[in-house]
Order: sequence, then C-alpha cells, then structure tokens
Amino acid sequence: MIKIPKSHPRYFSLKTREKLLHAMKKGLVHETGLFAHGRGEAFDYLFGEKTIAIANEAERVAAAALLNAKNPVISVNGNVVALAPDECINLAKCIPAKIEVNLFHRTTDRVKKLVKELEKAGAEEIYGLKADARIPGLDHDRGICDNNGIFSADVILVPLEDGDRCQALKKMGKTVIAIDLNPLSRTAKTADITIVDNVIRAIPNIETWVEKLRDIDKKSVYNIVKSWDNDKMLDDVLLFVSKRLNSL
Ligand code: ATP
Repeated sequence: MIKIPKSHPRYFSLKTREKLLHAMKKGLVHETGLFAHGRGEAFDYLFGEKTIAIANEAERVAAAALLNAKNPVISVNGNVVALAPDECINLAKCIPAKIEVNLFHRTTDRVKKLVKELEKAGAEEIYGLKADARIPGLDHDRGICDNNGIFSADVILVPLEDGDRCQALKKMGKTVIAIDLNPLSRTAKTADITIVDNVIRAIPNIETWVEKLRDIDKKSVYNIVKSWDNDKMLDDVLLFVSKRLNSL
C-alpha cells in the first residue's frame, strides 16, 4: 500500500478506503462491501461529508429509542466492523445493548473472524454464531440470527442494512433504526428512524446523545421517539440536498 501524505486533501477518505481494503484482505469484509462503500461515499459528498443538523436530530431520537428499549441490539456487518469497531463497542456498553454479527454473504468463517475482531477490540460477548433462529420471510442468509440476540430484540440498530431485512424486522414488530447515507434506499424509507449520516460519525454521536439523555425522565425520552416523523425527515434531507446543490 502506498503511503498517503497527511497533507492530501482527501486523506481521511483515502485512509478509510485503505482500512476497508485491508479488512477485505483479512477476510472481514466481502468484496461487494467495497461497492456499498463507494455508494455511501458518493452520497456523503452531497452532505459535505459532515453530519447535517437533520441527522444529528435523528441520532438524538435513536439514542432515546435505544435508552427506552428492553432488549436493544446493534447488528453489525463486515463494513461496520472495519470502519467503527470501537465506536460500536462503546455505544453498546453505554446503552447497554447487545452486538450481533449478521451478514448477507454469510460464511461461518467470516462470522467467526468478525466476532474475534470485536473481542480483540474489547467486546465481551458477541452474538451471531449460534444461528439458532430465523427472521420470518427472509430467504437469504441475513435471515439467520441468534434467538437471544436479534430475534428477541425490541429495538434494533442496523447500520448499513438492506431493505429486505429492514422490512422483515419491522414485520416482526421491532423498532428499526437504520444508518444509511442514501436517503432514497428501501432501508431509509422503511426504518422507523433513519439516520442519513456516515456510520463513522453517526455511531459516536448516538453515544454522545445517550449520555445527554440518560438522566432525563423516562416519559420525556419516550416522547422524543413518539413525536418523530421519519417521512418528514427524509423530505427535509432531500430538500437540504437540492438547496445545497443549487447553492454550489
Ligand atoms: P436497499 O435495499 O435499502 O435499497 P441497497 O441494496 O442499495 O439498499 P446496499 O447495496 O446493501 O443497499 O448498500 C448499503 C447502503 O449503505 C448504501 O445505500 C450506501 O449508501 C450505504 N453506506 C455505505 N457506506 C456507508 C457508511 N459508511 N455510512 C452510512 N451508509 C453507508
């Protein structure tokens, strides 16, 4: 790998790509994860590669939903583990929530590697290897999950999701929080709370909100979630993008 000088204007973006490539070579990220990342990068440009105010608000609502949950679970795939392992572990500890590895291109070997990677980073228990339950209505491998993890979760945070599973999780009655830079995706449109932001920024910011909301009374935290209008938020995101493009 070539050395990227810190002075390069795209330093952070290039380092992130390198991280993913490295994780792919270690067998943590599937090849198609690179395509998903590319699409995310393109959308991130539209937001100026920053957390916009609307996303910050969605992150606050997500924190409230996670604090309100009885059995919250963070579902991670290869890209998420490659890009934000410590951030996921810290968020899980502060809620507290479980973490489960869930993959579209699932092999037991890759699940084991991802579990090990998270344990190496300090996680105590990672779900996903038991694979003793199935999300109804999903024929592909993202339907495979743990009974004590995703299957029995009431609130689930799904960074980098696919629309199918998002719909299937909702059909099970779960509250779904998605992180997706594409405000037009099926996932973004289906989730209860969609965070249109990069996982690298979104996950630590949800943690910041969890700390801020922790001492607020339960009813107020519940009301934050109840009054959230996800469709309006997605309209606002598209308006933000069109205004920004017009102003450039
Ligand atoms: P859907 O089924 O919901 O319509 P899709 O099939 O287009 O989605 P995938 O191909 O699984 O979705 O891609 C995952 C999504 O993750 C893409 O929409 C992409 O914008 C988004 N994404 C990629 N990298 C990041 C990131 N770092 N942070 C947030 N979102 C990201």
